[in-house]
Amino acid sequence: MRTISMEQEINPWESQAARFDLAAQKLNLDEGLWKILRYPAREIIVHIPVQMDDGRIEVFTGFRVQHSIARGPSKGGIRYAPDVTLDEVRALASWMTWKCAVVNIPFGGAKGGVICDPKKLSMGEIERITRRYTAELVEFIGPEKDIPAPDVGTNEQTMAWIMDTYSMHTRQTCTAVVTGKPVTMGGSRGRREATGRGVMIIANESLKKLGMNIEDTRVIVQGFGNVGSNAAKLMHDTGYKIIGVGEWNGGLFNAKGIDIEKLLEHQQRNGTIVGFAGAEARATADLLTSDCELLIPAATENQITSQNAERIKAKVLIEGANGPTTAAADDILADKKVFVVPDILANAGGVTASYFEWVQDRQGYFWKESVVNEQLEHIMVSSFEDVVRYAETHNVNNRIAAYMLAIDRVQFTIRQRGIYA
Ligand code: NAD
Repeated sequence: MRTISMEQEINPWESQAARFDLAAQKLNLDEGLWKILRYPAREIIVHIPVQMDDGRIEVFTGFRVQHSIARGPSKGGIRYAPDVTLDEVRALASWMTWKCAVVNIPFGGAKGGVICDPKKLSMGEIERITRRYTAELVEFIGPEKDIPAPDVGTNEQTMAWIMDTYSMHTRQTCTAVVTGKPVTMGGSRGRREATGRGVMIIANESLKKLGMNIEDTRVIVQGFGNVGSNAAKLMHDTGYKIIGVGEWNGGLFNAKGIDIEKLLEHQQRNGTIVGFAGAEARATADLLTSDCELLIPAATENQITSQNAERIKAKVLIEGANGPTTAAADDILADKKVFVVPDILANAGGVTASYFEWVQDRQGYFWKESVVNEQLEHIMVSSFEDVVRYAETHNVNNRIAAYMLAIDRVQFTIRQRGIYA
């Protein structure tokens, strides 16, 4: 194993590239295709002036990276966070290409981000940042070009503003330009819960594969936002015992299981999970290494690294977040025989339901929630089976299998389309 610094280990772009290189090498990928797929096709940087509530003008930096449009328009979320970097957005854009290919939906990959701290901004300031960011990108996004969605720090309201701004520029209401919109304006039923639901479907399939029972499975979830809270709620309702929930400002533990419905009410009332009476306080970092069968990191990147991977006790790791495990930690988890379901499969329920939303917007016909959930289950289960079979056939772990499957699908299409000169 090559020695790398901690700084390199936690650079998401390096993490992505390390897995890409390994999978490409195992696939014996043609050198030219390797060069095409290793880097994003387009990287846009914008510096956006915004008038703040106190009258000052502030300039924010935003990114949109389009990694590939080989299999269809590019697709990927927009993140608002103070620590967004171009390398992070690049990695997330590449992961979107692989993710869409793993679940075999007709999209390439993209991602966007704005360096800002939504916790410290008013609604009006966030709206103005969003509208100006959208206006700067207006010729680069669109239903047939690049379709944004929510990610960390953005939500349905953000998507509504992007849809409206884009529509004002194109002089017609265009719902299919973003997904993850409110249901009242072209959003899909079931989209809000889809990533968490996908995580649960993958958990169910993993248990079946490993001969484990739902009732005997103790689960720890890190991150209680869109992905983590929906996964925890759906899994709790299905009979899993959620014994730990961790947030950035503190975690909770109850060996008998946490009542997730009550925890959601507490969070709604107090704006935090901290102080919940139905569990004892436990540091989030300690939760990651606490005894459990199933660990679901659903917060942010670089949570499982060479520093703590050795102490992970879970038998199954399902990556709700993007990039929660570093490449160096992969090797340690493999030695410990942890069954890892990688992000590009485990959290693909979100983009799959986004695909359904885009289809419904273009059809102008909206499906019942049961139809969305049934189609989602079908895609998640068959993709899980594809990846696990690929891993067994090629004698690689699930992550490298998912990358190999995805890279092979994308390179095949590039060959078919040919190189435009
Ligand atoms: P979110 O902002 O709704 O939730 C993230 C939660 O994690 C927040 O509650 C935040 O307080 C918490 N958090 C942040 N840092 C933390 C830390 N160090 N320890 C513990 N908790 C921490 O975002 P989300 O949409 O749920 O996304 C979470 C992850 O899932 C991200 O990696 C995102 O890229 C990925 N993801 C999201 C979707 C989606 O549909 N929303 C789809 C695929 C992947």
